[in-house]
Amino acid sequence: MIELKGLTKSFNRQLIFKDLNLRIESGEVIGLIGPSGAGKSTLLRCLNLLETPDSGSLTIDGLTYHAPKISNRQKIQFRRQSSMVFQQFNLFRQKNILGNVSEGLVTVKGLSRSEAQKVAVEQIQRVRLADHINKYPGQLSGGQKQRVGIARALSMGTNVLLLDEPTSALDTELVGDVLDTIKDVIRQDTNQTVIIISHELSFIKEVASRVLFFDQGQILEDGSPSDVFDHPQNDRVKQFLQRYQ
Ligand code: ATP
Ligand code: MG
Repeated sequence: MIELKGLTKSFNRQLIFKDLNLRIESGEVIGLIGPSGAGKSTLLRCLNLLETPDSGSLTIDGLTYHAPKISNRQKIQFRRQSSMVFQQFNLFRQKNILGNVSEGLVTVKGLSRSEAQKVAVEQIQRVRLADHINKYPGQLSGGQKQRVGIARALSMGTNVLLLDEPTSALDTELVGDVLDTIKDVIRQDTNQTVIIISHELSFIKEVASRVLFFDQGQILEDGSPSDVFDHPQNDRVKQFLQRYQ
């Protein structure tokens, strides 16, 4: 379960969101949509404490953090609650696939190198990259790189998976492959809570159990894909959807 209470975040004097309240149950697949600059990535990064909220509280699976003060130990505990897939993959260029996927298991989870590699191999198989396991990021297509990013996130075994526009840096012909991988992951593990930011609205409609439309620091729509896509209430949401569909 994820719960935000009164969460507020600004950058310098720019308010991104204020007093945000949101509860997400375990196993929900949330599609987070909305215009560019709305604050979607900032919200997702706050869940992983890659950004520090200014005030409010954040609870993930029984662990609560009251913004903004946090110790390094608390930060590490909190980061173990969720894992993130980034738009630009964020792979280590000097490490091969096996190294990229096993690194966090050693440094964050404290596994031995050989235990870490065993877990990593399983996840690399899951995203169908076993044949490329010794290749470096420079030798992979964008879609393959992102599948490494997904394997790396899955390998951490967290209950919460956060994906920030996982396909928007890819050439069109590579998008389908990565979306299929994400679909498999969602189908295989129904206990995992997934939050995915994407402009691939047909994909969101297909996989999400709940859609949040975020704009100007507020959740303007919150409902099933059919509620939000077929019967939006808010005029700004209607306009946005007309442009995209
Ligand atoms: P997009 O769809 O384009 O990715 P978004 O909804 O993810 O947009 P954010 O990246 O969260 O939007 O950005 C929200 C606002 O916060 C923007 O105005 C952005 O310029 C600002 N912002 C984001 N990160 C920072 C930062 N590290 N420092 C200062 N301002 C930032
Ligand atoms: Mg973003």
